[in-house]
Amino acid sequence: MHLPHPSFAATLFLVFTAAYLAIRGVFARRTRRAKAVSRADLRDRLLILLVGAGQVALPCIVVTQPVLAFASRPQPDACTLFGAVAMLAGLRLFWRSHADLGESWSVTLELNADHRLVTEGAYRHVRHPMYASFLVLGTGQALLVANWIAGLAGLAAVALLMAVRLPREEAMMIDRFGDQYRDYRRRVGAILPRRRLRAA
Ligand code: SAH
Repeated sequence: MHLPHPSFAATLFLVFTAAYLAIRGVFARRTRRAKAVSRADLRDRLLILLVGAGQVALPCIVVTQPVLAFASRPQPDACTLFGAVAMLAGLRLFWRSHADLGESWSVTLELNADHRLVTEGAYRHVRHPMYASFLVLGTGQALLVANWIAGLAGLAAVALLMAVRLPREEAMMIDRFGDQYRDYRRRVGAILPRRRLRAA
């Protein structure tokens, strides 16, 4: 019987995942304060659980335990190389968006009493750099985790998060910031930078 042992690509994935959790841990500690507005319902909490399972729990189990072996795939060196590059780029954007969002960050749909609308740093280029970083990290995961199910689980969970949460998050921002957010949304793309609109 063949027992899987973490390959080089899998080890890289585990190291990058530890870095991801460390970055989240540091910023979560810094932003621990009571929120004034919450739209954190069961749906949003289930989505957070699903993203945690798809990004972290499932791939970490699959690269260290003999499970879901029927869905394993070969691991060409090019996949490992591009996967590592994607993870590094994703971690950089993840860190950057956390640093730019500062106290305005929340794991769910919430606002501070004195919530600051952030439109600078990464938020100058896209409205959702943290979700964009999840897509880049998910691409890295798909390339480093040599299993079709565990590799694609992160991207699938993040796609669902974005489909369900993004409209609700923007509605919450419009309720709070009105035309200020509408204007921001007109100028700045959601996930990809938009070409700058020139003043007429
Ligand atoms: N969607 C953003 C932020 C994710 S964290 C991103 O992908 O980068 C989710 C929380 O961030 C929301 O509950 C909301 O309170 C806050 N938020 C989202 N966009 C914001 C902005 N431009 N300025 C300030 N807070 C914002």
